[in-house]
Amino acid sequence: MLDTAISARPEIEDKRLLRGFAYINGRWTSGENGESFAVTDPATGAHLGDVAALSAAQAQNSVTAAQAAFPSWAALLPQDRAALLRRWCTLVMEAKEDLARIMVLEQGKPLSEARGEIDYAASFLDFYAEEAKRPNIEGVTSHLPDAEMELWYEPMGVVALITPWNFPAAMLTRKAAAALAAGCTVVAHPAQETPYSALALAELAERAGLPAGVFNVVTGHAPTIVKPWTEDARVRALSFTGSTEIGRLLYGQCAGTVKKLVLELGGHAPVIVFKGADLDRAVAETMKAKFATSGQDCLGANRIYIERPVYSAFCEKFIAATQALTLGAGMKDPDIGPLMNAAAIAKQEAHVADALHKGATLACGGAVSPLGPLFYQPTVLTDVPDSAQIMHEETFGPVAPLTPFDTEDEVVARANASEYGLVAYVHSQDPRRIYRLSRALQYGMVAVNRTKVTGAPIPFGGVKQSGLGREGARMGMQEFMEVKYICRDWA
Ligand code: NAP
Repeated sequence: MLDTAISARPEIEDKRLLRGFAYINGRWTSGENGESFAVTDPATGAHLGDVAALSAAQAQNSVTAAQAAFPSWAALLPQDRAALLRRWCTLVMEAKEDLARIMVLEQGKPLSEARGEIDYAASFLDFYAEEAKRPNIEGVTSHLPDAEMELWYEPMGVVALITPWNFPAAMLTRKAAAALAAGCTVVAHPAQETPYSALALAELAERAGLPAGVFNVVTGHAPTIVKPWTEDARVRALSFTGSTEIGRLLYGQCAGTVKKLVLELGGHAPVIVFKGADLDRAVAETMKAKFATSGQDCLGANRIYIERPVYSAFCEKFIAATQALTLGAGMKDPDIGPLMNAAAIAKQEAHVADALHKGATLACGGAVSPLGPLFYQPTVLTDVPDSAQIMHEETFGPVAPLTPFDTEDEVVARANASEYGLVAYVHSQDPRRIYRLSRALQYGMVAVNRTKVTGAPIPFGGVKQSGLGREGARMGMQEFMEVKYICRDWA
């Protein structure tokens, strides 16, 4: 029997959203020999419940179910697929408060951020419900006499989706809505820390009427489940959001069956603040870029470069703003919640110790909070040298390293000296400088004088080792479609 302690939690009204089994072929499925894994609340360490851990054979069964469901799903009229996605979206919004609270319990993020993530998750269902209906045939101006040419965009088939714990709802709908709108069927693996959000979405997908086998959520030990998917020729594409390290591993595993890959991997975002920028705005936006999701965000600011004439003023304002942040359990809706696990805490400690050892100054924070073992104080380090680990490796937590720069060329070279290339933030009021920086920065996304750039209509993704392909926008759907070229004579 699975422990379902989470069902007793008073925070969740609709208890049927709390599922402890995988969802395959329209059935709630237990592990072969009753295997399970535990899920805990990072704020308190309390045991939330056990969730079924499926076997490799069951992972293969999920592909069989998705493969069987594919022809009729792909053959549905686009407006019928759209209506199901729209219904799913409506149910997600109706369940918003429960979904947000499930997320807070298992992920720890502040309640307002969790509510925001449910809006964001639903926005992909809404957007791709529309996009599903757009024309998917293009004409080509012929270069051959008498020939007619067309491009048909066809769904690839079964796609595998692997999602991380930091955005347990939105990363799943961002992938699944695009794949389903394209006419593909889905097998998905959510991170072990946060399976309840994905399973609640599966419950709502079922209520929305998605046919059995179209959307499957397979919980358990990631390599046990995902490796068979990477080796299965019936899985035609794999979309992964997570660390660059696991992304590289999956890239290799997928080579044998030549799968289409979408990889949304790590980031190491630079923030560049020039003199002449609106300093209060730059501070406020950089606070968001650093401390949203308690710093556990692939878009999180990991290096903050400030032009020397405004360095002291920026540091002073930024340190004061950081000291004013509240830290606490997500349900109390503080600014910053607990980190996900002990490894995340160890990383903050290692990055801070290394930076101090190499000459940085600790301006505030720099220790685990008395609130509990997974609460790390919001921290600012100043005068951090480029040789510090934190200037190269993803910190994924609430530690902000600040450093001065002198020239535009210098800061561009320093910002680009990274294996990552997801997002860069620039603060300046000089239009020519903004244009030069937008061109010179080797990043998939450049945000100017602001932090929030994401949303369903934009193509999200990085360059270099931040990944391959794009999610969101029409491009996100095309990642799950093959182009077929038809060349036709009527003679
Ligand atoms: P992770 O360790 O790479 O895990 C991500 C997913 O991969 C989880 O579902 C995990 O499952 C699974 N996984 C782990 N080992 C695997 C293996 N050997 N084979 C197959 N799957 C495996 O990353 P994370 O720590 O959860 O997430 C943080 C990372 O995600 C950061 O690097 C962050 O920058 C990145 N991220 C990127 C984006 C983006 O869009 N670019 C967005 C959000 C996060 P288990 O949990 O069950 O092990």
